[in-house]
Amino acid sequence: MVDNSSEDILNVLRKTYGAPKRIFTHEDPFQTLIMTIISQNTSAWNAAKAYAKLSNKFKITPEALGKGNIRQIEDCLRVGGLYRNKAKTIKNVARTIFDRYEGNISPLLDLSLDLEALYNSKNYAAVHLLLILHGRRCCKARNPLCKDCPISIYCPSKSLLDRND
Ligand code: SF4
Repeated sequence: MVDNSSEDILNVLRKTYGAPKRIFTHEDPFQTLIMTIISQNTSAWNAAKAYAKLSNKFKITPEALGKGNIRQIEDCLRVGGLYRNKAKTIKNVARTIFDRYEGNISPLLDLSLDLEALYNSKNYAAVHLLLILHGRRCCKARNPLCKDCPISIYCPSKSLLDRND
């Protein structure tokens, strides 16, 4: 493993995958939150299909989803995998935002911005997106493609895997 900074790893990932684009472009922060939940452990394509189905059936608002029928929410999300868990999470989050924050997500966003400032990283979003991309394309959970990995020289797990070759 080469002793180097995380900034170097980030640069390699940027060169490999390009400047990360936002996976979704919803202006409404609640819609972005719902899309984020739907996107967990699924492809961007399936997440988009699930989101489209959900938004055809429900208004994507804390009130509509908080009061929505859980089975109908599950049906919309089926294409995206883990649909039962995601439906439950979405309903709970929506209900909480509606009940506790009167449907206004801004206080939660302020908290998240504070956390981001706490981490004090201008690269916060880029790191997040690049690591997701790297996990999907190269560092796959079941079968990481270490031989083709652009950051293998920095990776302590690479040497463990090499020993098993
Ligand atoms: S070397 Fe292998 S385990 Fe390490 S980051 Fe690359 S793909 Fe993942």
